[in-house]
Amino acid sequence: MKFGGTSVGKPERMRQVSELITKDADPKIVVLSALSGTTNSLVEIGNSIAAGEREQAKKQIEKLEAHYQEFIKELVKEEKYYTKAKAILTEHFEFLTIILRISFSEALSKDILAQGELLSTKLFSTYLEEKKIDHVLLPALEFMSIDAYDEPQVSSIKTKLNQLLKKHKGQTLFITQGYICRNAKGEVDNLKRGGSDYTASLVAAAINAAVCEIWTDIDGMHNNDPRMVKKTVAIEQLSFEEAAELAYFGAKILHPASIWPAQHYKVPVKLLNTMEPDARGTLITEEAGSVGVKAVAAKDGILAINIKSSRMLLAYGFLRKIFEVFEKYRTSIDMITTSEVAVSVTIENTPQLKEIIKELEPFGTIEVEYDHTIVAIVGNEIAETKEVLSKLFASLTPVPVRMVSYGGSKHNVSVLVPSSFKTQTLQLLNKGLFGLE
Ligand code: ASP
Ligand code: MG
Repeated sequence: MKFGGTSVGKPERMRQVSELITKDADPKIVVLSALSGTTNSLVEIGNSIAAGEREQAKKQIEKLEAHYQEFIKELVKEEKYYTKAKAILTEHFEFLTIILRISFSEALSKDILAQGELLSTKLFSTYLEEKKIDHVLLPALEFMSIDAYDEPQVSSIKTKLNQLLKKHKGQTLFITQGYICRNAKGEVDNLKRGGSDYTASLVAAAINAAVCEIWTDIDGMHNNDPRMVKKTVAIEQLSFEEAAELAYFGAKILHPASIWPAQHYKVPVKLLNTMEPDARGTLITEEAGSVGVKAVAAKDGILAINIKSSRMLLAYGFLRKIFEVFEKYRTSIDMITTSEVAVSVTIENTPQLKEIIKELEPFGTIEVEYDHTIVAIVGNEIAETKEVLSKLFASLTPVPVRMVSYGGSKHNVSVLVPSSFKTQTLQLLNKGLFGLE
């Protein structure tokens, strides 16, 4: 069971989490994020230190500490546990203060970021102790690891985690940190923002869990972005493929990388709502459940690069050369369309854009269009369902669609639109495909 930042962000919420994890006696591993807002604050603290603004960093650390001081006052009641919680704060905030005095490095910034999950799990564990709820705190840094390419080392995670669990025979409740891990150099690192979901699915895969539950503050994945359209509905069931497309293309509820471990090790994933534990949520399994369109999702900050060249005509090997440029800069391409003399690809805006363009220039005329949004329409077999396609394009008549990607997968049709048309596009599709306002 993984609980996100808002699910542990208030003492009251931690209380709810303790109830949810003790509802039944099934053995479980509980993965916690940092309290909501904490990782953002730690990012800011790291930025201030990196910029040499130590006074500013000091203020930010003090502000964060004050927040935690208030938090523990409400979290634990007995003197003994309050003293313990206070000692936890002292330990971690002293660490941050010491960091202020040493020179900044990339490794140091990762150490700063790790404080959030360390704090949340230790405080939660103290709360459970006060409640006399028997449990074991498993340090993620002892089993979670990534290789030199930032990829999780699944077999090592499996071995180490299972060894740790064996040491605690008879125990049924384990708490651990999401997000944090060790890298190839043995340093503290992380699985990137939102990475606690990834931790949860890696842990679930490593122990062959019956289910991987992701508890957040919304009742599952929705058919559209609730911030952009008036009415959305939760999706009951999705296949791993559909969920991966949606997570990647903008449904913020789930870290996109967290799908593959669950899919590969055949662990069903459930998206559930801490605030509404009885809501059905979304089930993600191998089966899609039903045919047809399930959801639309949007990914912003996209730019389209068009490479036009008469040399492409009847040539071979042209695309390879272009792709190699993106590979060199480790930039992933989202959409691609080609004609005989031109190819358009989309990427997320990157600081290395200038270099990429420079290396593409020998291949033809390069044009870049900024501020675009990919809108992905996802569902089972939709690319083969004529009705969906006609409804889709009929709905989009007022929108200047820049690119269409169709046929790459049976479960996805993507369109690229100027970001200024994003809201309108999502609203039109909500009406046209789902009959919702
Ligand atoms: N605390 C981390 C973040 O905010 C990881 C997570 O919440 O999943 O990105
Ligand atoms: Mg999260």
